[in-house]
Amino acid sequence: MAASMACQAAVRGLRAASTKQLLVSQNQLSRVSPRRWLNLQEYQSKKLMQDSGVIVQRFFVADTASEALEAAKRLKAKEIVLKAQILAGGRGKGVFDSGLKGGVHLTKDPAVVGDLAGKMLGFNLTTKQTPKEGVKVKTVMVAEALDISRETYFAILMDRSCNGPVMVGSPQGGVDIEEVAATTPELIFKEVIDIFEGVRDDQALRMAANLGFKGPLERQAADQIKRLYDLFLKVDATQVEVNPLGETPEGQVVCFDAKINFDDNAEFRQKAVFALDDTAESDPLETEAAKYDLKYIGLDGNIACFVNGAGLAMATCDIIDLHGGRPANFLDLGGGVKENQVYVAFKLLTADPKVEAILVNIFGGIVNCAIIANGITKACRELELKVPLVVRLEGTNVQEAKRILAESGLPITSATDLDDAAKKAVAAIAKK
Ligand code: ADP
Ligand code: MG
Repeated sequence: MAASMACQAAVRGLRAASTKQLLVSQNQLSRVSPRRWLNLQEYQSKKLMQDSGVIVQRFFVADTASEALEAAKRLKAKEIVLKAQILAGGRGKGVFDSGLKGGVHLTKDPAVVGDLAGKMLGFNLTTKQTPKEGVKVKTVMVAEALDISRETYFAILMDRSCNGPVMVGSPQGGVDIEEVAATTPELIFKEVIDIFEGVRDDQALRMAANLGFKGPLERQAADQIKRLYDLFLKVDATQVEVNPLGETPEGQVVCFDAKINFDDNAEFRQKAVFALDDTAESDPLETEAAKYDLKYIGLDGNIACFVNGAGLAMATCDIIDLHGGRPANFLDLGGGVKENQVYVAFKLLTADPKVEAILVNIFGGIVNCAIIANGITKACRELELKVPLVVRLEGTNVQEAKRILAESGLPITSATDLDDAAKKAVAAIAKK
């Protein structure tokens, strides 16, 4: 299970590479636990921060341009910042397909907020962390803007090599922390937290000093750091990232951006947080698969892979690749399979128009191959499968499974082993 999650994240993580991964690899902190955690929109994360006494600016959330305009007037702020809400970072330097540049806009005139929001809402915003086509913006945040005299970077994350949380910070924060990590790694500071002790005063103060906060600001920043750690624990976060953690000319330390990831294993005790999950930005096939306890990963080739277990998924993808093919996706069935799951799995796999062949590679350990075979024949008949299907089954009750497939009269190609299966799937496409 954990391994299959790892697969899922390994692939999808490429799409939303986070600063966490960058920073961590730059600093050899560890390999980041390769898993895709629940992620919330900035405004949702900031609400959680507010509840923990972390300082963020006043804000409203709007789904339409007129709501945004209303919100801007209601704020009665000297300056307003309008921020597109998508799960990816790098919005400041992003571009909309409406032509508007920048997912974060500052203005002193509330009257222009409606216009700006109109060029954000309903349009796709592309940043260096989104897919090429960008992500559709459905919500904007209208917040009080503050002058920022200095931007720093601060994050707390779970780190496997330390068996616990680590603080990471840099006095060089703002939009391009990845750049800082790459060019001036000496400006990245870390502080390992003892999970039993929590963040000690001396650690918080040292981090604040490393971030470059001076005089009374040092204590204020240390206090914010401790509050962020309390939040980190309270919500079962795997990462709390504030970039920028800034200071204002008036001498206040403020969290200007917020990204929190949550430990999916804590869902049972973080119901309120997980209820905020909006799957609109996830792959719909992945979301649908999850409803049936299946793990679906979309890739960009044309051979659908139907497997049980993450190791087998990776091996299948590799061998397809070795024979000159490209996987279109893979679907991990996991253990304890029911016939209906096999049917749903086929439905999901073939919903992808890129799929030109299906390769089933199942190793029956806990799984009974006959159940898979029955599921496959049912799916083939009911879905009127139009693409070549290559099946490699091995393990528990495999003879019975082979009999079911052979007697089905369906055009199913049997394979003797994985290598044979991959060869046959690639050849089936070449023949078309
Ligand atoms: P992203 O990381 O997605 O680019 P941020 O929320 O970090 O988005 O915003 C980008 C930049 O916009 C920040 O580095 C900061 O300079 C500026 N900014 C963001 N919020 C405010 C604010 N409330 N007041 C003034 N400037 C802001
Ligand atoms: Mg930011």
